[in-house]
Amino acid sequence: MTSPVAALVLATERGDRAALAQLLTIVESGGARARAALAALAPAASESAAVVGITGAPGVGKSTLTSGVVAHLRRGGEPVAVIAVDPSSEFSGGAMLGDRVRMQDHDTDGGVFVRSMATRGELGGLSRAAPHAVRVLGAAGYPWVIIETVGVGQVEVAVAQTADTTVVVVTPGWGDAVQASKAGLLEIGDIFVVNKADRTGAEQTSRDLQEMLGGGSPRAWVPPVVHTVATERAGIAELCDAVVEHRRYLDRSGELAERRRRRVQHELRAIVVEQLARRADELCRGATFDRVLTRLAAGTLDPSTAASELLGEGSPARVDREG
Ligand code: GDP
Repeated sequence: MTSPVAALVLATERGDRAALAQLLTIVESGGARARAALAALAPAASESAAVVGITGAPGVGKSTLTSGVVAHLRRGGEPVAVIAVDPSSEFSGGAMLGDRVRMQDHDTDGGVFVRSMATRGELGGLSRAAPHAVRVLGAAGYPWVIIETVGVGQVEVAVAQTADTTVVVVTPGWGDAVQASKAGLLEIGDIFVVNKADRTGAEQTSRDLQEMLGGGSPRAWVPPVVHTVATERAGIAELCDAVVEHRRYLDRSGELAERRRRRVQHELRAIVVEQLARRADELCRGATFDRVLTRLAAGTLDPSTAASELLGEGSPARVDREG
């Protein structure tokens, strides 16, 4: 007898898109079913996808660029999965709609799978869900997974840690490169794109970027700066070449194994945090909790000793004013 989750995993591995969508929902929700699903995935297959993160401030053209990259990869015949990440609830309506509109180009293409992920501002949720989703998409046989993020915050940086190759997108104008620098994007970018290169100042922005990137210690991989006009699909082939080149570098240098180790480290930590949070919820209700809470509220117990009692830890520093 196979469990429903195991059946979903099998169907996903066979290329069933409806099963894939359901499985993604399960792993995104976390909990016992998610753990069962992740345990049932073939480990090697789920680590096989090349994961490309595309990030940058809202409006720089990430969606348009992603659509262009998808079209380019599809011309090569390979299936592509896109995860569109929107961490902010306020913008989700518009941003998601925007993504959908641009990805409509690929609506009828069975080789493209698009998934939106919203987290309503919950950073932990996203850092947990993104690597799980990548795993599922890898097991589903997608050799390419593109993670497109909206905005440039903590979440983006966390999501970038899920990718093998992180593409940072800016537009012409000194301000943009500086903003990218302030947001910590210079450190996470493996490839930089100056999109909207049809506008003035693209060359200057490249120079600014190269100057900022040039500082510091010599690096084995010097991030290239690629110019694109996403709306005209210009420069997309060069961007894809740079991604492939970076991928070769990762393989050659052993950096891929290191990045994936970091990725599973984040994944593992997120699972541990999730389980501890559940344990905290369990401990913070019921008769024992009520008794401890009453003493705490009455001032006969300090909070840290109260916590130790709930956790069943002996506390040498225990100061119980009752006795
Ligand atoms: P995102 O918010 O970063 O995903 O940006 P979008 O892909 O939604 O693009 C924002 C706006 O910039 C849209 O109106 C696009 O049509 C436009 N845009 C995207 N790429 C280019 C480009 O290369 N040149 C110009 N002039 N406009 C672009």
